[in-house]
Amino acid sequence: RDNSEDLASKVAFRKKHLGKSLSLSYKQPLEMLRGEGGFLIDHTGRKYMDLVNNVAHVGHEHPKVVKAGQAQMAMLNTNSRYLHDNILELSENLLSTFPAKLSVVHFVNSGSEANELAIRMAKAYTGEKDFISMELGYHGNSNACIDISSYKFDGKGGKGAPEHTHVVPLPDTLRGKYCGANAGEKYASHVRELVQQLLDKGRKPAAFIAESIISCAGQIELPDNFLKEAYAAVFDAGGLCIADEVQVGCGRVGTHFWGFELHGVVPDIVTIGKPLGNGHPLAAVVCTQEVAEAFANGMEYFNTFGGNPVSCAIGNTVLQVIKEEKLQENALHTGNFLKEELNKMAAKHPVIADVRGQGLFLGFELLDREKNPLAKQANALVQRMKERGYLMSTEGPDDNVLKIKPPMSFNQEHANQFLKDLDLVLTADFFQI
Ligand code: PMP
Repeated sequence: RDNSEDLASKVAFRKKHLGKSLSLSYKQPLEMLRGEGGFLIDHTGRKYMDLVNNVAHVGHEHPKVVKAGQAQMAMLNTNSRYLHDNILELSENLLSTFPAKLSVVHFVNSGSEANELAIRMAKAYTGEKDFISMELGYHGNSNACIDISSYKFDGKGGKGAPEHTHVVPLPDTLRGKYCGANAGEKYASHVRELVQQLLDKGRKPAAFIAESIISCAGQIELPDNFLKEAYAAVFDAGGLCIADEVQVGCGRVGTHFWGFELHGVVPDIVTIGKPLGNGHPLAAVVCTQEVAEAFANGMEYFNTFGGNPVSCAIGNTVLQVIKEEKLQENALHTGNFLKEELNKMAAKHPVIADVRGQGLFLGFELLDREKNPLAKQANALVQRMKERGYLMSTEGPDDNVLKIKPPMSFNQEHANQFLKDLDLVLTADFFQI
């Protein structure tokens, strides 16, 4: 059923009665009615391959996840002040994926809440309030999260970095300050410099926070040794390191279950969000015993919904499905295949200036021959791929990076189908440089 008047009235209602800064994808918005594995189905019954949604980690409406949630919902849902096996099982299963040092978990309901709690923990542990964060990093929508998110305070409507936030230059080795050998060390020297500036003022960092692949900045992979050296600089001053795994975690990078493991570091606090609940609001903060002890200073941490039996049943099933369906292995193999094929595509279509990322967390950047960003082309690509039945999105400060982070059931067949249409779209005159 295609009823454009109906859609127009829904858009008008949204505009008038929903939050005025909510965005809507596409000029001709889509009304999605069903999800199925790697696909979304709109109100006309048209099926779209979803290349954007890393929240539906094990696939949209995965039957086992749905069943686990429904069954527990029919039995009991209440807060975590009663004993319940679901929260214990999820804690045990989740913690088994971490280095032994990370052995305490707090359950929350969103990535923002997870980072909000991590910020409180770092303040409690160190008694400090200065944070070092990444240029163009995003960590959530709460007050404290916005205050450490350069993507927001340096972007539209933002007012710049607050007094206690210190921003490290984005370690972009394609268009950034440094590239080539030792770029990681050079970028990390800025972290050491910021730490020193704090020490000179008689202050210390509470924490350094970063993703392991900087998503909102346009899928920027951290150069070798950056994280190792940055962590060392912060540890040396008695600060904590927080890994934000909200986007990249739970096997998505392929070689490892957590993104920070790509860099051989162990953070003090890890925040987990989107994928853990496969669309259900479930998130977590994992930390060391020492950090957890310091946070428990007598004030109770109560979270009405965090760790409830329904959320935990869902989280447990998500972890189980990742294992059963070998989705981390799939992210590695399919991701490598897709990255290789995209590199071939870049050789054929020079508008693709860079292909990057790990596993099923990839991106490709559109530039002209003078390395100027091509936002119009990137947005046209999203539009033309939509017309062919693919959901994609753009990202990065210049809006010229295409992100690829599909549900992890995305396989080689899906990749081939996508690549075929991408090739056809890129052949149009508009994309010639
Ligand atoms: N951290 C990162 C890296 C994110 O990408 C996001 C959401 N895009 C968040 C935190 C906040 O998560 P949520 O929207 O679930 O609050």
